[in-house]
Amino acid sequence: MAARPALPALPLTGGCLCGAVRYRIDARPLAVNACHCLHCQRLSGTDATVSLHLKAEAVSVEGELVRYRRTADSGRQIDAARCAACGTRLFHEPVSVPELVLVAAGTLDDAGWAIPVSHIWLSRSNGSFVPAADALAFQESAPDRQTIWGHFAALYPAAP
Ligand SMILES: [Zn+2]
Ligand SMILES: [Zn+2]
Repeated sequence: MAARPALPALPLTGGCLCGAVRYRIDARPLAVNACHCLHCQRLSGTDATVSLHLKAEAVSVEGELVRYRRTADSGRQIDAARCAACGTRLFHEPVSVPELVLVAAGTLDDAGWAIPVSHIWLSRSNGSFVPAADALAFQESAPDRQTIWGHFAALYPAAP
């Protein structure tokens, strides 16, 4: 595969389809992760969700959201936040980790660079989504978040 596009300069911006919800990201993402679990297949309507992991304090949001809370196979609860007007799924918010927010990569104004750096729950995938050669690939969940955050940091070194 060709070299990965560079991480764009901050801030990153994005929003929903109708424009009622807009957000701004003022810190480097910690990960671009694809989850192929069955919940994510339902939520996305396709083989995976692709999400940026962010410190919640780095994400500012304008506009009205509605939330749906689910319990993952791990037993942990997570909210999916959508635009109240058009239903675009923008964020996943882990209830037990309020300092973390997952931003749906396809809602970025420029998502061209956001190629997953890690894939989890590939055992549930139908194989239609082939991980990049330099991405981590797990058949089930990752051992911990630090593993996928560390791989992202290695592929996108911070400017000196
Ligand atoms: Zn909307
Ligand atoms: Zn998932």
